[in-house]
Amino acid sequence: MNIFNQEQARCWAEIDLAALERNLFKIRSALPGHIRYVAVVKADAYGHGLAQTAARLMQSGADMFAVANVREAVAIREMGSGWPILVLSAVLPHEDAYLFQHNLIPTISTLEEIRRLDDKARAGNTTLNVHLKIDTGMGRLGAWHEQAEPVIEGLGNATALKLTGIFTHFSSAPTDGDFTSLQRNRFLAVLEQVAKFHELEACLIHADNSASLRSFDQSNPFNAVRVGLLQFGAAPYPDSLFANVSTEPVLSFHSRVSLVKPLPQGTPISYGRLLTLQRLSHIAVLAAGYADGIPMKFTNRGQVLIKGSRCPVLGRVTMDQLIVDVTDLPRLPQSGDVATFIGKRGGKEITVAEFSKWAETIPWECFCSISQRVPRIYKTFRE
Ligand SMILES: *Cc1c(COP(=O)(O)O)cnc(C)c1O
Repeated sequence: MNIFNQEQARCWAEIDLAALERNLFKIRSALPGHIRYVAVVKADAYGHGLAQTAARLMQSGADMFAVANVREAVAIREMGSGWPILVLSAVLPHEDAYLFQHNLIPTISTLEEIRRLDDKARAGNTTLNVHLKIDTGMGRLGAWHEQAEPVIEGLGNATALKLTGIFTHFSSAPTDGDFTSLQRNRFLAVLEQVAKFHELEACLIHADNSASLRSFDQSNPFNAVRVGLLQFGAAPYPDSLFANVSTEPVLSFHSRVSLVKPLPQGTPISYGRLLTLQRLSHIAVLAAGYADGIPMKFTNRGQVLIKGSRCPVLGRVTMDQLIVDVTDLPRLPQSGDVATFIGKRGGKEITVAEFSKWAETIPWECFCSISQRVPRIYKTFRE
């Protein structure tokens, strides 16, 4: 029995790689032709599966990949030597060797990193391409924009490091357009400083993530975008519109009804007895729980689609199972029927935005929380 195919799985995520490809085309065509597409595929491509996703993005014309760390970067490098790979987090000193071995691009922002990597590059008689990150209001990585000059100068003096990119990251793009433009302007000011020491023409200049694309300004010198969530067809918050591009969901998330039973009014449901049935009910027990990525916050509030009807979650989410109310369905479901958490079923849809609202979190986290226990099933058909 192949328990990893869709016919057999108890809980699975279906990944439509053709939709991913169409999304990439749509995003690209909404941007000027010279803009490079940096595909952000950190955290196992937001839970979509790094190898399959990166392979399809390579075929579809992504110019570069961005990942969180050297481990993820090496996983892509092992697929081929053609694509530049940017490591978005700070590299730890004991990871430096991988940068040289696998031809990876680190993000640097401090003089310490410059000295350390320059020394190692010179010791290895090689040159390392680096991207400089500027902190314009994220308060995480990057040289703070008002203090960037010594770093820019230090980079100019590093003989074995080559600046091939400069970037910043927006902290509030989905919600605060004013702060995002302030960040843009701070970044543009730093670019002028950089131009004194480096050839900007040779650099990839990038700031935009999914949420800021709608305010992408063609008149600015940016020549690349870093796209994560949008390529997977998700919006950051319910009702929010990303960019001027409507992308399609790539991932759907399903489980199955394992059994259905009637229970009398007054029956308590699940751990802690947080719910008592108010009527004679039919419950369905689903073969997915928090160990699969169903958020605990779904307790007494989430919904799933069964046979085209929305069924509310009853009581607490448990590790491997979830109980839903199927009393109002026109026909009772049966053991083996599909229950959909994210995606379309029977003409109805639950989006990841809605799913994340019940979970009181963001789509990024919901995707990343679909656990390793959940097999990913790939649809590769190109329409
Ligand atoms: C994750 C990440 C992105 C992609 O963000 P999305 O909102 O998913 O498009 C871009 N840049 C950096 C630095 C990131 O960490």
